[in-house]
Amino acid sequence: MKLVRFNDDRLGRVDGDEVVDVTDVLNRLPPYRWPFPRGDQLITNLPSLLGPLQQANGKREKLSEVKLLSPIANPDKIFGAALNYRDHVDESNADAALNFGNQIAAIEKNGLFLKANSSLVGPSEGISLGFGDLRVDHEIELVAIIGKTGRRIDRDHALDYVAGYSVGLDISVRGTQERTFRKSADTYAVLGPMFVTADEIADPNNLDFWIEVNGERRQASNTRYLIFNVQRLVELASSVCTLYPGDIIYTGTPAGVGQLLGGDNIVATVDGLGVLRTEVSA
Ligand code: MN
Repeated sequence: MKLVRFNDDRLGRVDGDEVVDVTDVLNRLPPYRWPFPRGDQLITNLPSLLGPLQQANGKREKLSEVKLLSPIANPDKIFGAALNYRDHVDESNADAALNFGNQIAAIEKNGLFLKANSSLVGPSEGISLGFGDLRVDHEIELVAIIGKTGRRIDRDHALDYVAGYSVGLDISVRGTQERTFRKSADTYAVLGPMFVTADEIADPNNLDFWIEVNGERRQASNTRYLIFNVQRLVELASSVCTLYPGDIIYTGTPAGVGQLLGGDNIVATVDGLGVLRTEVSA
């Protein structure tokens, strides 16, 4: 199933090039009281809601004509994987504008980082550069969404904990600051256009993906080149943190990162996850 959050926080099921409004299914969520449980409660309850979501039949609109918000509304955490494709490690070591004089190690040494939840936006909200004169880059990434609570998850069972996938842009300022600071500005975590349940993706570690800026292809690769694949990323994240439904893992970006400027148009896709279109403003 493919789900979107659209317009004024409507929930939609994608049917071809249309969105079916299935917002009424949210009335089935438990009546939560403060303090609210951690995680995204739509994803927590998704196993019992899949049937009603499939059967619901509300108003239809063209997918291309709705305002697309982040399909995950309330993540507990957003993880990023730095330097998880060898060709991006190599380009980072070769370019002073990327490494600022530091030796760049791959994910085995770096582990993961966190992006502020407030950086999360959907494609229709766009990217606001907003970091002065510093260079801001695009990074196209496969994103995995956690489906159930877990800690110390073994890689052999890790995909049991993945609810689905989405296309992500891990927008990044280049500079000397801590990675979390450089990647946490408002709008720096673009997610969309939809959430695709894991049953629709045969192998997350064999998906072609690419990004074009103003019609120019900037990055193109396949997730088979991940140094730590999806299972190992779930294992690594859960080795230190309890994972909750709706947690978001940006899996890393390949070579070809490049600067964004106000007015840029971005088109990005991962096989089977739809086409993410967004715009950049200064
Ligand atoms: Mn990244």
